[in-house]
Amino acid sequence: MTPEVVFVLGGPGAGKGTQCSKIAEYYSYTHLSAGQLLREERRRPDSEFGRIVDSCFERGEFAPVEITIALLRRAMEETMQTDQNKFRFLIDGFPPNQENLQGWMKVMDKAEVKFVLFLDCSNEVCVRRCLERGKSSGRDDDNKESLQRRVRTYLQSTRPVIQQYEEQGKVRTIDASRSITEVFSDVKSVFNTEG
Ligand code: ADP
Repeated sequence: MTPEVVFVLGGPGAGKGTQCSKIAEYYSYTHLSAGQLLREERRRPDSEFGRIVDSCFERGEFAPVEITIALLRRAMEETMQTDQNKFRFLIDGFPPNQENLQGWMKVMDKAEVKFVLFLDCSNEVCVRRCLERGKSSGRDDDNKESLQRRVRTYLQSTRPVIQQYEEQGKVRTIDASRSITEVFSDVKSVFNTEG
């Protein structure tokens, strides 16, 4: 079965994880978060990649493309092996930059990227939400300093990827600054039409 993929992009705190959980509840999609897969890999004691990912995170750099894609690919294959009806994936927070996009196209050329769901939200709102999330998430990167860097990286590296898909007519933009319910209502319209 050819996997079908929707990339879900937006700034840190735009609501990617929140909306992806809801989409996965309503539609036959499996939610994979590139960031979460990497964070899990950091914590896995016998991981072959953990230490490399650790040092990238500590330096505030992207994890090596090969590792991120290998983790995504493994998760997709495991999901499809368990249930062959599960061939639709929401990939949250990927591709974060051109290099990852090129890496994906090289390795995952069989997967069909249906569209990019772009959760568009101002940086101020994004940062405010992450700081709030940081109070309970236990994520060591939900602090002011790290967030400023992540927003900068998002603007410099991820926006050009969204722009590139935009030029191909593949971006579905949602105003993500509203309430979770309002955002999801627009997200549903997109998936009802082309999901
Ligand atoms: P991302 O995956 O894009 O980083 P999350 O889905 O984790 O963002 O959301 C970041 C924080 O903001 C979470 O604490 C979440 O509960 C909250 N949140 C998400 N969407 C909204 C929204 N539309 N309005 C208010 N808070 C939101």
